[in-house]
Amino acid sequence: MVPKKVFFTNGVGKHKEKELIDDYCKSKNRLIFLDYDGTLIRFFDRPEDAKPTDDILDVLEKLASDKKNELVIISGRARKTIDEWFDIDMSFVAGHGAWTKEGRGEWEKAKNLNDSDWKSKVRPIFEKYVETTPGSLIEEKDFSLAWHFRGVDSTTSHKRARTLVKELEFVHSMNLQLLDVSEVVEVMNAGVDKSTAALHWIEKPGWDFILAIGDDWTDENTFSVLPAAAYSIKVGPLPSQARFRMESPDMVMKFLKKLIEA
Ligand SMILES: [Mg+2]
Repeated sequence: MVPKKVFFTNGVGKHKEKELIDDYCKSKNRLIFLDYDGTLIRFFDRPEDAKPTDDILDVLEKLASDKKNELVIISGRARKTIDEWFDIDMSFVAGHGAWTKEGRGEWEKAKNLNDSDWKSKVRPIFEKYVETTPGSLIEEKDFSLAWHFRGVDSTTSHKRARTLVKELEFVHSMNLQLLDVSEVVEVMNAGVDKSTAALHWIEKPGWDFILAIGDDWTDENTFSVLPAAAYSIKVGPLPSQARFRMESPDMVMKFLKKLIEA
């Protein structure tokens, strides 16, 4: 994957940004995927502190209330957190694709999700790392367990993360996947990722504008299933197959406000 050079926000990509906004204005049936952490809001040492600000909620509310938009937050967060944080009539994907919710409907579990008996094997390993790495913590979701070490002394915690990933290699033979992203090590059921969840919407007919914005490699799964004409935007410097880039969540927010005002 070759990093793209076009930044929408430093002047280099201004004409491309205008092209996108023009396309947005012309279209009548838009599909918009937004990742949450690292995309709409910066990272916090404690994941629970990354609560949406009034500004974020206002932007989402306005985008979602436009009848031409189908707005989907596509996140690794737990269903419960999403329900607590967002009281907006729009769609959500939780647990990196384990659950989807359309509008004010019920949460639907992804097909092919197997049981989560494996947690009893993985939890004690995570607990060991929490004990030896003060400040780190375990997060449990329906089909995943995650070890968060953001905000913990980084040399030590990154070293421990590498050891942990090695220790968890056995999960690959258990129909599980190991996610190693943005200061989180997460074990989750196989067969769940953002691409399957995204396809649930993409495959519906009639879209004349598709946009996806995300910051880490789980969003690459979303980007990978977008039609060629779709707009994809990577937030931050990591390699990506996205067509465009933005530097930070602040810039994403500014850009979304331009869409609302366009
Ligand atoms: Mg993210």
